[in-house]
Amino acid sequence: MRGVSLLVLAATAAHLHGARVLFEGARVIVDARKAPIEDAAFVVDNGRIVKMGKRGSVNAAGATRVDLTGKTVMPALLDPHVHLGYQKDGTYAAENFTRENVIDQLNRYAYAGVAAVMSLGTDINGAELQVRGEAKTAARLFTAGRGFAAPNAGPGTPAMRGSSVGVTNEAEARQGVRDQLAKHVDIIKIWVDDRNGTVKKLEPALYRAIIDEAHKHAARVIAHVYYLEDAKDLVRAGIDGFAHLVRDKEMDDKTVALIKQRRIFNMPNMGLAETRTTMTPPAWLDDPLYRAVTPAAVIDRVRASYAGRTAQATEAAQKTYQIMEHNLAKLNSAGALIGFGADSGAVPDYFHAFTTHRELELMVHAGMTPAQALTSVTVNSAAFLKLGDHATLEAGKSADFVVLDANPLENVSNTRKIARVYLRGQELRRENLFAR
Ligand SMILES: [Zn+2]
Repeated sequence: MRGVSLLVLAATAAHLHGARVLFEGARVIVDARKAPIEDAAFVVDNGRIVKMGKRGSVNAAGATRVDLTGKTVMPALLDPHVHLGYQKDGTYAAENFTRENVIDQLNRYAYAGVAAVMSLGTDINGAELQVRGEAKTAARLFTAGRGFAAPNAGPGTPAMRGSSVGVTNEAEARQGVRDQLAKHVDIIKIWVDDRNGTVKKLEPALYRAIIDEAHKHAARVIAHVYYLEDAKDLVRAGIDGFAHLVRDKEMDDKTVALIKQRRIFNMPNMGLAETRTTMTPPAWLDDPLYRAVTPAAVIDRVRASYAGRTAQATEAAQKTYQIMEHNLAKLNSAGALIGFGADSGAVPDYFHAFTTHRELELMVHAGMTPAQALTSVTVNSAAFLKLGDHATLEAGKSADFVVLDANPLENVSNTRKIARVYLRGQELRRENLFAR
């Protein structure tokens, strides 16, 4: 078995001696909510940005210089909705859920410029909790541990279904929350969905008990949701975040206003649904970043899957997708908090890391500006993960950034044109992060 690569860094002499590095000439998106600095200069020392400004305004005597003329620098991306561990090569199974496989997928995220992910409720055997506690991985891991649903009614795929905790009464629900919180999970996840009438939905009394118990312990609850009626009641019950958009109906103004007012975190999760809307393979199957991070067996299977599609299923998927785009645009224009989440790993054919970038493109297609989409994947997701250090590239923040060959504020797809990735001030040796 091959060795597990953890933090694979380019250990230059400068880094080893803790010397300062001056990066000059790039356009720097310091904070996605503000205009970038053109022809910037910034200094990184001991893993942190210590100075940021225009070229010439930054004093850096004795620093090693790195010329980034023509490049764009942005904060590293954050993806708070993934499902690690189930995919391996071409297979998808609970047996794949190991420490090594979780780390392998985290390294693919780091390759793609993603500094942290949160795995949302499918930690079947504690491997995520173990990796988070033991390993200093390239991309940081957050986890909801095991989420809650009605018995055998959690995640959509059979391979993942055993990971959720089935609850049937309030006492079980409250005890389950306390058990997860004792393991220091980062959030509590619930599934409130009947999967098109095929499973039992988590009852309102039970999700109220879960939310109440979590809030008593100063923890937050995020809900997988599908139907508008459930979303409305979850808002009344005090939910903190939605792991998906409402997908059955267009949202009413009153619900949107409440979601905005309560600062509920909305994960658009467009990408997986979008893959079902076309009859022919999309161009991004040839994208170099997709091909670099995705196992060849998955790429082949995804390509082949289009041959079996029916017009009827595709049209139904398009209809759902139009509702999603409408609801995202409505939440966004109302000023609700738009978070981020690509749901990568939720099904066998939706692999990790490239999908974080694809999601940005779809958020913009739905009506967000590139700057808004970049705010979601940096500032808003950092606040959600309590990673304020990673939100922006101001002096004092952790030096986690991506060097791009083109400007994502002009075309958000340019986040894929990655020249280099720096985490905690050090350049990743991207080619060594995982076996290909
Ligand atoms: Zn999910």
